[in-house]
Amino acid sequence: MSLKRLSKKQLVVYIESINASDYTAHRNYLGGSTRISEYITRGAISLPQVRDLILINNSANEAYKLINELSWREYWQLVWRVRGEEIFEYIKPLPFKPRQGIPTAVLNANTGIKVLDEGIRQLKQTGHIDNHMRMWIAGLVCSVARCDWKIGADWMHSYLIDGDFASNHLSWQWVAGSYTGKAYLPQQENINKYSKTKQHGSYLDKPYEVLEKMEIPPELMEITNIIPSFDAILPLSTINVQDLSNEPEILLYSPWTLDPDWLPQSKAPRVLLIDEAMFGKNKYSQSVLDSIMWFANEIKDIKILCAEPQALSGLHKQIIRKDYPGIVDWPGRVEKPDLLYPAVPEKFYPSFSSFWKQVEKLQLLPKQKI
Ligand SMILES: Cc1cc2nc3c(=O)[nH]c(=O)nc-3n(C[C@H](O)[C@H](O)[C@H](O)COP(=O)(O)OP(=O)(O)OC[C@H]3O[C@@H](n4cnc5c(N)ncnc54)[C@H](O)[C@@H]3O)c2cc1C
Repeated sequence: MSLKRLSKKQLVVYIESINASDYTAHRNYLGGSTRISEYITRGAISLPQVRDLILINNSANEAYKLINELSWREYWQLVWRVRGEEIFEYIKPLPFKPRQGIPTAVLNANTGIKVLDEGIRQLKQTGHIDNHMRMWIAGLVCSVARCDWKIGADWMHSYLIDGDFASNHLSWQWVAGSYTGKAYLPQQENINKYSKTKQHGSYLDKPYEVLEKMEIPPELMEITNIIPSFDAILPLSTINVQDLSNEPEILLYSPWTLDPDWLPQSKAPRVLLIDEAMFGKNKYSQSVLDSIMWFANEIKDIKILCAEPQALSGLHKQIIRKDYPGIVDWPGRVEKPDLLYPAVPEKFYPSFSSFWKQVEKLQLLPKQKI
């Protein structure tokens, strides 16, 4: 799927057309996945909507893998909901003291691993890279260069147009070994296989047992704890907080809840709040801000307000908003989240497999079509 964004109508047609068996066969190869994460992250479509569209033309068996991957998203969101700010800290300690920085070779796309260098360039240019690429880059930073996952996670998140703190930061922890306790190692043969390329003789071209004990390669020795800042342009507010004070009801959107189909009958003003404290500090690339504005512009007559959420606390009773774990401190009444598995008890599951077992035990997966 190309980088041209789809309207909601086009997106629905696209998702309905996905062949879930092809997805299962190709998902781990670069270019083999659906590319719908930006729509999900921006809240343009919910996980249950995606699942239901997939099941129109695929049996439950065929869709099993894709639904399983969608469930990872729900799992990380649940962890964020339950553990809150703790997701930004080490869930489990590492057996070594990580270096406080990120290799400059990663920032400069100069690691010597050709596919990864291409992936880093792609991340900077487009704001998207595939799952395996994310794992390889994070593995290079954390397991090979033995750096702290936090700096790498912030760096990658600053570019990702599907950037979500739960999926990103918890995946970095997972790769680093501070989530389940087992770290992920990138290896040249595995990179060659899933990128369909043939680099040989690199410092990753070794068996896993050797990589596990390898010294930090000279290419990755130099680190920095200063990640690039951006000159991205924050959109201008088209409304003031005072303009809203007499409104009986306000539909408040966030950069992660930009659903163009939300409450279609409502005549209340629709306002996208862009948190100045978060987006005003040159921490996000222009691609991220462009993504937010593209999705905002799909919502008719939406007004833009760049402010801190607390500036709206006087309007708490008038505001309605959709749920997202990253905005729990925003004012307003919150709608119930759109979940794949609302019946799964809200608590911390220490691994995806423990969460998945619960889903299966409660028989929440779609039934096979006859
Ligand atoms: C280090 C690292 C950082 C990541 N950061 C993010 C992030 O900021 N935002 C984000 O949405 N995903 C993130 N992911 C998860 C995953 O890489 C992306 O969701 C996926 O690459 C998006 O491409 P796709 O839509 O083609 O995925 P598909 O394989 O087509 O999957 C369909 C959907 O399922 C969900 N999904 C699939 N795999 C995962 C996963 N492992 N974790 C969570 N959800 C998943 C996504 O919503 C995705 O759009 C990260 C993974 C890693 C290893």
